[in-house]
Amino acid sequence: MEPYRIKVVEPIALTTREQREEALKRVHYNLFDLRADEVTIDLLSDSGTGAISAAQLAAGMDGDESYAGSRSFYRFHQAVTDLTGYKHILPAHQGRAAERILFNTLLEPGGIVLANTHFDTTRANVELSGCQAHDLPCAEAKNLDAELPFKGNIDLDALRGWLEGPDGSRVRVVVMTITNNGGGGQPVSMENLKQTAEICRRHGVPMILDAARFAENAWLVTRHEAGYQGHTPRQVAEEAFRLADGCVMSAKKDAIVHIGGFIGLNDPELAEKCERLLIATEGFATYGGLAGRDLDMIAAGLLEVTEPAYLAERADIASHLAGRVRAAGVDILEPPGLHALYLNAGRLLPHIPPHNYPGHALACRLYLEGGIRSAELGSLYLGEEDEDGNPIKSAPYELVRLALPRRVYTRSHYDHVGRTLEKIAKDAASVHGYRIVEQSPILRHFRAKLQPVPVSG
Ligand SMILES: *Cc1c(COP(=O)(O)O)cnc(C)c1O
Repeated sequence: MEPYRIKVVEPIALTTREQREEALKRVHYNLFDLRADEVTIDLLSDSGTGAISAAQLAAGMDGDESYAGSRSFYRFHQAVTDLTGYKHILPAHQGRAAERILFNTLLEPGGIVLANTHFDTTRANVELSGCQAHDLPCAEAKNLDAELPFKGNIDLDALRGWLEGPDGSRVRVVVMTITNNGGGGQPVSMENLKQTAEICRRHGVPMILDAARFAENAWLVTRHEAGYQGHTPRQVAEEAFRLADGCVMSAKKDAIVHIGGFIGLNDPELAEKCERLLIATEGFATYGGLAGRDLDMIAAGLLEVTEPAYLAERADIASHLAGRVRAAGVDILEPPGLHALYLNAGRLLPHIPPHNYPGHALACRLYLEGGIRSAELGSLYLGEEDEDGNPIKSAPYELVRLALPRRVYTRSHYDHVGRTLEKIAKDAASVHGYRIVEQSPILRHFRAKLQPVPVSG
């Protein structure tokens, strides 16, 4: 059961099918353009959408809003230092701001960054610095159905191959994303982190953690990795941070706050350069674009997020939903992680070709049938077509992500999601595809306008 009870509530929108049909038409079938109060169960993202605790709110009330040297900063600094062990801690307003500052400082044009998988903003910040971002996921990651525990690992042979190969001297940094968000929220083993750190050390390349879900990764390590079963998630997390040379963190995930992030580094010169850019673009080094109350809520959230009862329940609710989804006859990316379930829309809707976006079709149907908002991760997100709509490139898989906000929805909310999927799966042949009628040249999924394509035959 949930290791908390509900003290403050917020009503959610209960809409009719007609209202949802109208809303979909109005937003040109792009779920990003819905008003949040048209959504009943919002599983678009787990980022900044969690419920804060009474303790976090109380800590925020004690926030010190001094421009420089606030008490809040020192409490935040202590909490992050205790957790990570890094010598230099810089607050930032969210994860991508931390990435921008670190990569702008660390990278020069022509460099290469390697990762288990770059998250999309991480890749964007690497490329904006004039560098190439290469993903080296382990082989098991390619099999969606394989129930293996550490499909977030980096491919160590590929990593060695790059570092020892002709372009090895251009590799500036290796990023390990825990859990591997771009790779289906799959965890990275401590063994894989240790070996990566060792390879990086031998080649004089820093290893940086993209630590947005460090606690969820640690939980899965205590469940599945030999030698860690007696450890607490906090102990695993502390060890993981200490294997790396630094981290970037989106506090909107595993610090359970609505806004925030930070950079942690051991290298004093690099930290000083980052601090200069931070002051010029985010804010002074003791607030980094955040209010004092945000810093205090991060400090409190970082302690709560590794509590075993919290993580156990988060894993349990994800597996509860996974059970309902499988029972409805919908395959998911296995095994289910903690922060999201990924529905295999390509398999459920084989009659919709990639360039008519089966993932998007399922996401729209989930909204129409149940008021549920999700995110397409398929060919609308990753594909490309020519001007006549003929496919140039499609995504490797057509997925829909159901992100699970922290401490927000209960089992009965997720049962509604399960029932809705059951209804859709029974009548899957009636789900129709879409085509794009207007799009922007980059990150098109956010702003594209679409139109239904009727089922033929
Ligand atoms: C969310 C996320 C980011 C970016 O963080 P924001 O706070 O959204 O800017 C970076 N990396 C990973 C793995 C993330 O999940």
